[in-house]
Amino acid sequence: MPRQFFVGGNFKSNGTVDNIKAIVDNLNKSQLNPEVEVVISPPALYLLLTASLIRPEVKVAAQNIFDRGNGAFTGEISAQQLADAKIPWVILGHSERRSIFRESSEFIASKTKAALEAGLSVILCCGESLEEREKGITLEVVTGQLQAVANVVKDWSKIVVAYEPVWAIGTGKVATTQQAQEAHKGIREWMKKAVGEKAAEETRILYGGSVTEKNSGELAKQEDVDGFLVGGASLKPAFVDIINSAA
Ligand code: PGA
Repeated sequence: MPRQFFVGGNFKSNGTVDNIKAIVDNLNKSQLNPEVEVVISPPALYLLLTASLIRPEVKVAAQNIFDRGNGAFTGEISAQQLADAKIPWVILGHSERRSIFRESSEFIASKTKAALEAGLSVILCCGESLEEREKGITLEVVTGQLQAVANVVKDWSKIVVAYEPVWAIGTGKVATTQQAQEAHKGIREWMKKAVGEKAAEETRILYGGSVTEKNSGELAKQEDVDGFLVGGASLKPAFVDIINSAA
């Protein structure tokens, strides 16, 4: 069975009530390829507003959770609370969380486990720095990040992997189609051994990092590129063109 194309919009810590309403409004009135699974991820403050306004076939994702359930964790949101609020997805392991907030692969793995146990689906991010790419250790780094999750999660059916080279995020420097395909193929091969043949075949691997409506068409043609995680461009009307670029 072919993997369903998936496009995620990661708004990061951007937006106001008014412009999130405008983004949602634009998505609601646009023609979206019905074969593409679309998930948008506004800041936590706007999750419920977004969920209440967006067309039902587009789903909403949080950008983070804490892994320890409800309790005395000031400032955090639990997986159970997202499930309670019917927010079905969460982005975990984004490079900004790994670098700025010093989240380890083990912590991200624990969050992934907590999210899945609460019934959420996960967009699990991985990616190498420029220095790591130049050293030729891209796959080692990326599969190391994913292995931490494989150590604690056996069922990957509700995980979508996002390969996001750190040097391409928000820089305008997109990976070449060849670099993306090579990394995605490597991840899929690793998955065969570490998680299983079926998971390797079925798991969507998204590319993220300076995706725009100008480069998405070529990237989408690569055999192992099953969609995108889009940052900056997901805030713009052209996000619709990226969603439709798989056709
Ligand atoms: P970008 O961000 O599209 O702005 O490069 C992608 C991401 O961080 O998910």
